[in-house]
Amino acid sequence: MNPAAYAELDLEALGHNLKIVRHKAPNAKIMAVIKANAYGHGLPRVAAALQEVEAIAVARVDEAIRLRKNGHTSRIVVLEGFSCIDELQDILNFHLEAVIHTEHQLALLKKVRTDKIFAAWLKLDTGMNRLGFNEQGFAFAYRQLQEIRFIEKPIRLMTHLANADDLQNSATLQQIGKFKQATEHFSGELSIANSAGILAWPEAITDWVRPGLMLFGVSPFPKKTADHDHFGLRPVMSLHSRIIAIKQLNVGDAVGYGSQWRCQKATRLGVIAIGYGDGYPRHTRPETPVLVNGIRVPLVGRVSMDMITVDLGIGSDAKPGDPVLLWGPGLPVEEIADCAETIPYTLLCGITQRVQIVEK
Ligand SMILES: *Cc1c(COP(=O)(O)O)cnc(C)c1O
Repeated sequence: MNPAAYAELDLEALGHNLKIVRHKAPNAKIMAVIKANAYGHGLPRVAAALQEVEAIAVARVDEAIRLRKNGHTSRIVVLEGFSCIDELQDILNFHLEAVIHTEHQLALLKKVRTDKIFAAWLKLDTGMNRLGFNEQGFAFAYRQLQEIRFIEKPIRLMTHLANADDLQNSATLQQIGKFKQATEHFSGELSIANSAGILAWPEAITDWVRPGLMLFGVSPFPKKTADHDHFGLRPVMSLHSRIIAIKQLNVGDAVGYGSQWRCQKATRLGVIAIGYGDGYPRHTRPETPVLVNGIRVPLVGRVSMDMITVDLGIGSDAKPGDPVLLWGPGLPVEEIADCAETIPYTLLCGITQRVQIVEK
């Protein structure tokens, strides 16, 4: 029997979403971005299911090492690169690839002697002002890296889009233009597009694409859901729990901490084993839909650590043990994120350790 609260993974959906990436970017290589425990889906399992991509990317060196120790032998790119000599040694020893985005890293590279070969991704900052060199720094860093014997040539070149989820924002085309101009005279493969870039900005599709969220079947665009807006993506994660108690409520009865919700007319209340201790956000607003036996019912009262409460309605025949879906097929995580005034990324990677991940 499944635990009370569990996240179920549909790995077939993952394969399907990967096909959509291929369809959108038929000539590009795919770097599947699975940082933050594969957006909460479980790093080793998702990496194993993505054998056919050309590379995996994670944010940090320790995530990459975890994959290597799990037997993952294909290419792994560390998006934040290394920031000290130990991390650089790990990158070399575990045969990882890394993004070079700051002068500090150039200095570290010059300190190292090795007979290993290292694949570097040089990053241009085209307007995000987070990681990456400005144009002059980029050209300078490129020449520096050319001189380092243990770096594989030609060096790969990348940038990251800050506003690709905003379809009206011309900043994206400016970023793409800036990147193409700055890399014009350099050889080496190019990479720009995240999920939003892949889905909405064909100009951003170059040698490599870097899908994250869309692999998990979720839309990167505000107020859109991956299934309703016909990207054809299928959600990989569904978050499940069950009813553990039913209460008959009368007019005026208050529910939960702070007695925030009061019963307006007699009803049946369902108590469900999921809470912010599982990653269901505490600030999810009242009336947020929850699927009980496949029927949408509204959240009432505050979300507590281990439980939420829903208004089942007076005629409901739901009983303890009945299945509940918090998000997944039929109840898009994008919609729940909206109800919690956040983005689907935070809900997915906010799933806590207590939630067991099972395969469908
Ligand atoms: C997270 C990340 C991605 C993937 O972004 P999604 O919006 O999830 O597709 C791509 N590139 C970089 C550098 C990232 O940090």
